[in-house]
Amino acid sequence: MSDGGTVGFLGLGNMGAPMARRLVGRGAVDVAGFDPQESARATLAAVGGRVADTASAAVAGAGTVVLMLPASAVVEAVLGDPAVVGALRPGTIVVDMSSSEPLSTRRLAAELGSRGVAFVDAPVSGGVSGAAAGTLTIMCGGEAGAVAAVEPLLRELGTPTWVGASGAGHALKAINNLLAGVHLLAAAEGLAIGKRFGLDPELMLSVIDRASGRSEATATKLPRFVLPGTYDSGFAMRLMIKDMRVATELAATLDVPAGLGERGVEVWARAAADLGPDADQTEIARWVSDVG
Ligand code: NAD
Repeated sequence: MSDGGTVGFLGLGNMGAPMARRLVGRGAVDVAGFDPQESARATLAAVGGRVADTASAAVAGAGTVVLMLPASAVVEAVLGDPAVVGALRPGTIVVDMSSSEPLSTRRLAAELGSRGVAFVDAPVSGGVSGAAAGTLTIMCGGEAGAVAAVEPLLRELGTPTWVGASGAGHALKAINNLLAGVHLLAAAEGLAIGKRFGLDPELMLSVIDRASGRSEATATKLPRFVLPGTYDSGFAMRLMIKDMRVATELAATLDVPAGLGERGVEVWARAAADLGPDADQTEIARWVSDVG
């Protein structure tokens, strides 16, 4: 922890709530959280966290501020609010654990740096269950000293790895989710083909998991959330598409061909248009079967 004192926590949704709960459970830390949704604030209060009435009240006096917000547009709005920026004291470290855009992150790091506030990007992989268990994979970007200062806090949430300068964590996270989105779509198509042919879905996945088509989608997402029909992994389609687009737009900016990823984004966007943006990511498998 940078000062062992108060942690301000903004964004208490599917991921932020269990992460804040782990920090509260650590005992030595005072966690002051804010989320515009009343139900989200209630989850923090229920586990003994301190609920603030505004974002600026949550960050006031904090040595470390954790952001777990939907996307860069929200991160920029929060850090563009004069009340929030005014409440950040020099020496504070802001840790953006949201899956944000790397080029936006670089700009914010420069702006905050000129005020003596460090900005670390530390997006995560591992889902809601990883957030609850403290087993997230955390991809850190930023000045090495600032990353080292927040490492003890990050270790409460998972395993941090420093991957480079500001924005590097967010770039890696977007690339990871481009792969995850393409893998899940491909696995859903494979499942639909197999079912139509008459293969038993469980048997099919158990064999693929010992063969070369294995992925996180075949090993976890399809057996855990699709075959039982619960579709409740806790990751919304709108967030998957956002991350995939961050990666394909980065590819375009860097002049790297990413045709498969771009085609994947198109298919995911059609599914979200049919099912609604808040549909769980795993509903892509139901959609693929239905439109087929
Ligand atoms: P979510 O939509 O459940 O939660 C986001 C929360 O931010 C909401 O409760 C919302 O009310 C709150 N919020 C919005 N504006 C705010 C503001 N101005 N101040 C404070 N809070 C505000 O999303 P999530 O699933 O928790 O994901 C959060 C981030 O983590 C996203 O960037 C997502 O891509 C990433 N992520 C999610 C998962 C997952 O499995 N859900 C896994 C890895 C990474």
